[in-house]
Amino acid sequence: MSAQERLAALMSRATASAEWRGHTLDWGSAEVSATLQRLAGSASRMQRLGVCIHCGADVGVDTLPPPNGIDVGGTAVALDCGVDE
Ligand SMILES: [Zn+2]
Repeated sequence: MSAQERLAALMSRATASAEWRGHTLDWGSAEVSATLQRLAGSASRMQRLGVCIHCGADVGVDTLPPPNGIDVGGTAVALDCGVDE
């Protein structure tokens, strides 16, 4: 599985978890992310950050997390959306 495919799988997992908690994620522009990816200089490690458009909670995905890290993590998958209806 390529890093790109792993990233897509992690993003869809993160999106499902965040939506279950009431968040609506904005993953930002794919173009900006591609630029950041080039600057990072590693093809095997891809990271993206999603932010809830309602409450600002975030979720990060990492295709090659460090030994003490996680591949999907952040307040958007840990806490419910803080927006009042
Ligand atoms: Zn939210």
